[in-house]
Amino acid sequence: MKTVYLDNNATTRIAPEVLDAMSPYLGELYGNPSSMHAFGHGIRKALDEARQKVAGLIGAEPEEIIFTGSGTEGDNTAIMSAVSTSKGKDRIVTTAVEHHAVLNFIRRLEGKGRAKAVYLPVDGEGRLDMDAFRKSIDDKTALVSVMFANNETGVIFPIEEIGKVLREKGIVFHTDAVQAVGKVAIDVKKLGVDMLSLSGHKLHAPKGVGALYVRRGLKFSPYLIGGGQERGRRAGTENVASIVGLGRACELAGERLDEEARYIGALRDRLEEGFLRLPDAMVNGDRVNRLPNTTNMSFHYVDGEAILMKLNELGICVSTGSACASGSPEPSHVLRAMSVPPTAIRGSIRFSLSRYNTESEIDTTLDAMAGIVKEIRALSTYGPQK
Ligand code: PLP
Repeated sequence: MKTVYLDNNATTRIAPEVLDAMSPYLGELYGNPSSMHAFGHGIRKALDEARQKVAGLIGAEPEEIIFTGSGTEGDNTAIMSAVSTSKGKDRIVTTAVEHHAVLNFIRRLEGKGRAKAVYLPVDGEGRLDMDAFRKSIDDKTALVSVMFANNETGVIFPIEEIGKVLREKGIVFHTDAVQAVGKVAIDVKKLGVDMLSLSGHKLHAPKGVGALYVRRGLKFSPYLIGGGQERGRRAGTENVASIVGLGRACELAGERLDEEARYIGALRDRLEEGFLRLPDAMVNGDRVNRLPNTTNMSFHYVDGEAILMKLNELGICVSTGSACASGSPEPSHVLRAMSVPPTAIRGSIRFSLSRYNTESEIDTTLDAMAGIVKEIRALSTYGPQK
């Protein structure tokens, strides 16, 4: 059975070009980039090139890029650094719909008495309440951390507008851009962000590698302490092969950004329009300011888990919300923050596409879903649709 993979916000396939670029560094080019000999210098050169490519994709300088072990590490490091370098300020402003890599870390800091947090609300379409944001800022604010794009709905936040407000006030601004990098154009200088985290496995590079952009001149405190790697900003011998892969993945994404956004966006729209022809189906989240690859749909009076299982039997992979939260009995915190009705939360499915999806896969999924939704509703003991 052929797999139809529509769960690219959970993770992506490593691009063949990325694998090719990595391969020598998993084999004959095994040196340590910190070594003084020529063999090590060659590896250092590969790291430098990867740094340039990552920086290039987001409009940063290479020295502003710190390689990390994941998007989560970048998020935790950015938040911890802002809190520990801001004397006399202990307030963090974030949103109710952040990924748990941000939310759980901030809650931990609150629990330890290191910070007080404000969780900004969103409206029914998942858009940030900008009035609440402006009112939340005060002279105790050490950090604002707002995600670039939501992993469950794909909704994009007004990062540039937030950056403008914060720049005037001199407040540190971090954005978790794990879902956005490689999917939409990003220029850190234009956006006015101080720190930005990204993750390799969301853009066709391997898992377990990421990067944190830290604006030159920003006070920074490292999270991992040990050797002096990454100019003393992140200890641990670099994951060379994966970093080379991340560099190549960023280069590929940059070369094809507009073309891919158009291709993937057209497939996503075909899928969404087909679903909307089914009874009692709706899209969760703003359909305008959204990642081109994501749609979060609710099929009222149908259990999302049941849909997922039926699709799984046909080799179609989707998610019932954030994969990071799968296995959790709690309904999605993102959809709850958007006040999506409970029957719709229960029937919510996230479809997230990539450059490797095809029109015929979309049509296969549409056909499968029409049958599945009808079948489950016929057996369902609740809801008006039979
Ligand atoms: N932030 C967002 C928005 C995500 O979607 C994810 C992963 O799903 C992460 C952070 C965590 O990234 P990583 O898996 O590289 O730790």
